[in-house]
Amino acid sequence: MTKEECKIKVIDLIEKHKDDIIKAADEIYASPEYGYREFNTSKVVQNFFSKLNLEIEKDLGITGCAVHANKGKKGPKIVVMGELDAVASPNHKDALASGEAHTCGHNHQIAGMLGASLGIINSGVLEYLDGEVSFLAVPAEEFIEIEYRDGLRKEGKIKYLSGKQHLVAEGFFDDIDMAIMFHSYDCGDSKSILKLRSNGFLGKKIAFKGVEAHAGGAPEKGVNALNAALLAMNNIHAQRETFKDEDWVRVHPIITKGGDLTNVVPADVRMESYIRANSLEAIKSANYKFDRAVKAGAMAVGAKVVITDIPGYLPIVCQDEMLELFRENLLKLGLKPEDIADNQDFTASLDVGDITHIMPAIHPMMGGIKGDLHAANFNVVDKDLAYIIPAKAMALTVIDLLFDNAKEAKTIIENFTPVLTKKEYMDYLKNADIENEYDYSEK
Ligand SMILES: [Zn+2]
Repeated sequence: MTKEECKIKVIDLIEKHKDDIIKAADEIYASPEYGYREFNTSKVVQNFFSKLNLEIEKDLGITGCAVHANKGKKGPKIVVMGELDAVASPNHKDALASGEAHTCGHNHQIAGMLGASLGIINSGVLEYLDGEVSFLAVPAEEFIEIEYRDGLRKEGKIKYLSGKQHLVAEGFFDDIDMAIMFHSYDCGDSKSILKLRSNGFLGKKIAFKGVEAHAGGAPEKGVNALNAALLAMNNIHAQRETFKDEDWVRVHPIITKGGDLTNVVPADVRMESYIRANSLEAIKSANYKFDRAVKAGAMAVGAKVVITDIPGYLPIVCQDEMLELFRENLLKLGLKPEDIADNQDFTASLDVGDITHIMPAIHPMMGGIKGDLHAANFNVVDKDLAYIIPAKAMALTVIDLLFDNAKEAKTIIENFTPVLTKKEYMDYLKNADIENEYDYSEK
């Protein structure tokens, strides 16, 4: 078959099974589950995968699962991903009584990934593709239920709080060369937005430890941890004029515990914050300043301070040539050039940012919805655009990359310099996952 014939076969097959793909999306929509708890969702995926006559790899980060096509075939290895988890949108019309709802459209991603898997695996095009293709349903994209996930970590069930972080740490991505996924979004007048720029973040927990004393009778005997925290807040604000506009730094600390009783000098005061920015360097730089400001607050009053860093997500860095292939395929599927916007700045964060730091990857936004992500007005208005067109476009992009001795994929991989190697990424996670105590108390 020629490349064009392969593409037509895949488009026709996905079109023929459109109803099955929509059914899977709807089933998942009706049973939203939070990250690392997506057991029913995973079952829907496995039922669909069972039509592909391939062994299903299970228990990837508790609920994740995957199939691998062309296993062992020489050439670049591509993963097509969809995310399993839901968010909380208690006011959404289709939310469960407990609040879960699919208002981030991750069920659309799963439908797209499943459609692409069917198109690539069951159409007979695999023998023309020179490389392995994996289809992965990945758990836990949303950074939520921190205490629950910390518990899973302590039990040894996961290594990191997000599904992709965990799977990189587990080695799932060790021999993967490229990654493809999409996200649903209200693209306004457009039907797709190709290139996303996003912030990454580092989570912070701060505990100031002072000395209790009678606030009226003997305050001179105390060390006031609340004063340390207030100084730290002001010190942090004094850093703001040094943040560069182009780095999109957002530092937004809150005090989560301000003291115990008003007649006792506060000795246990807690703060939390995110350090957000659009590059790893900018996050590191802002974090250094943040820590300096916090330590100075503790030092001024002679308190102790414990600073805990929690690795959040890295900013997205999409691969341009892969995005251009995706654009061409959207045009082939009937979108007009003016339907496809080029850029979107997104100051929230996504864990696919971590993947884009270690390999060529894309994460275009696809329409078919109206309303906001994570909000009560989120609504699917065009199932073809939300599930079926992305399924086809991802499958066609896989064909472009792996057809003809995987020429396209090999050129992209050869010319690609990752922001971090996988080893550097793991070192980053380890270094960003730390707790340090600084003691400025009088001895
Ligand atoms: Zn999402």
